[in-house]
Amino acid sequence: MPVEGIPDREKHGFCLVCHQWHDRSEGQMLPPPASRPLSGMFSAAKQISGLEEDSYFICDGCLRRRRLRQAILWGLFAIVVATVLILSWLKAI
Ligand SMILES: [Zn+2]
Repeated sequence: MPVEGIPDREKHGFCLVCHQWHDRSEGQMLPPPASRPLSGMFSAAKQISGLEEDSYFICDGCLRRRRLRQAILWGLFAIVVATVLILSWLKAI
């Protein structure tokens, strides 16, 4: 549930997806998305060493929607791959 009033940075996190403040218990801190092949490796090294806080907050609702969207995309990808394999198998017969 979004925080109403003035948020406290110690207790609340700003969700970068829905742009609302939430209680820290209502979300997770995630590492930044890897935009380049090596950036994911560098950010993981930074987090392990504790040098820089690159992670960002995302609320449970947005996390659930993101996982559902990824599941749908992977499902569609699997259906397309299965269709191509079945069609190539039918052509071979
Ligand atoms: Zn959110």
